[in-house]
Amino acid sequence: MACPRVAETADVVVIGGGQSGLAAGYFLRRTGLTFIILDDGAGPGGAWPHGWDSLTLFSPAEYSSLPGWPMPAPAGGGYPGRDAVVAYLAAYEQRYTLPIRRPIRALALHREGEGLRVATDGGDWVTRAVISATGTWRHPFIPDLRGREDFRGRQLHSAQYRGPEDFAGQSVLVVGGGNSGAQIMAELSLAARPVWVTEHAPNFLPDDVDGRVLFQRSTARFLAARDGLPQPSAQGSLCDIVMVPPVRAARARQALSSRRPFARLTPEGAAWTDGSAIAADAIIWCTGFRPALGHLRPLLDADEFCNPPVSESGEAAHQLWLLGYGDWTGHASATLAGVTRAARVAVAAATTHATKTSPDITNQFQ
Ligand code: FAD
Repeated sequence: MACPRVAETADVVVIGGGQSGLAAGYFLRRTGLTFIILDDGAGPGGAWPHGWDSLTLFSPAEYSSLPGWPMPAPAGGGYPGRDAVVAYLAAYEQRYTLPIRRPIRALALHREGEGLRVATDGGDWVTRAVISATGTWRHPFIPDLRGREDFRGRQLHSAQYRGPEDFAGQSVLVVGGGNSGAQIMAELSLAARPVWVTEHAPNFLPDDVDGRVLFQRSTARFLAARDGLPQPSAQGSLCDIVMVPPVRAARARQALSSRRPFARLTPEGAAWTDGSAIAADAIIWCTGFRPALGHLRPLLDADEFCNPPVSESGEAAHQLWLLGYGDWTGHASATLAGVTRAARVAVAAATTHATKTSPDITNQFQ
């Protein structure tokens, strides 16, 4: 007869140690519950260490902070770059002595008695509540276009892009009209021969609108919807293109024109319905991400291309909360500034469950 696997226990298990997992850890620290954060990264920072070399936040540091401790402003001014964000997240987990185990990958989630069993590649945990905060970086999305298998050049997603030097002198299709596409297009235009392919004309924000203004506007819309008030008129969404300095400079060089989508890929490049075609050495897909939820099977039967329904606190199934994947798990929860509110709400709900509603503990979230 097979022996049951010996499991460690914790009141709450957080899966994922990026910014969302750390924000959850900050609030869990104040509850007195036992908890553990399991993260399969090689080091701190979640998805940020995997960003391209020139990646810079589109908000100032003071609008990019996790709960409790403001992100330090860069010494030379400007918006923090990728490495500054990683350094901040690394210092944050030390500062709050968050109990993170890495690298440990959660593989599956099962019901066990009154609780849940998290199976990992480093042993099992039995717990009363799980907060999943595994982000989207693991799950880059590339549309299934005709001829994609036939293209003989290099294809990569923005998740794998590092810098323009890899493409010096090459003809490159940059597909996708969001911030990633605009920023990669801007720097490639100095080193390669990129062609930008976007669904519609890209939506460039006014130069004085940065991530901070966008966040304020989207919060105003969220609060109006929540309180049943008329929607504020200011436009601009977190998906529109922020005119960070390299993108502004590319616009000034007239390097940001774009074409509408091609009909199919060919072995040499791409072909449009009007009969025109382009030869390309490489395609960079800046086509977004989907939530990485495979580790929640079999408990959560999430279709990998659909967001499972969640409650206002992010509860996706009894004893399971989702945090940080996008607006659908809490307003602006996939941003540094926005995850605080979502983490507070998810931890309060998970804690209430894990303690069977202890007033002492729930009071800490008022
Ligand atoms: P992640 O950072 O992806 O962290 C998830 C962690 O979970 C990782 O460490 C991963 O290794 C781990 N993990 C995954 N699966 C498992 C598993 N099965 N078991 C154990 N561990 C697992 N936001 C802003 O606020 N400002 C910006 O300027 C900004 N710019 C952005 C630019 C780009 C190009 C992108 C892609 C995003 C940007 N964002 C920005 C959005 C946001 O801040 C990030 O997406 C952020 O990384 C989300 O944090 P997270 O903790 O939810 O997920």
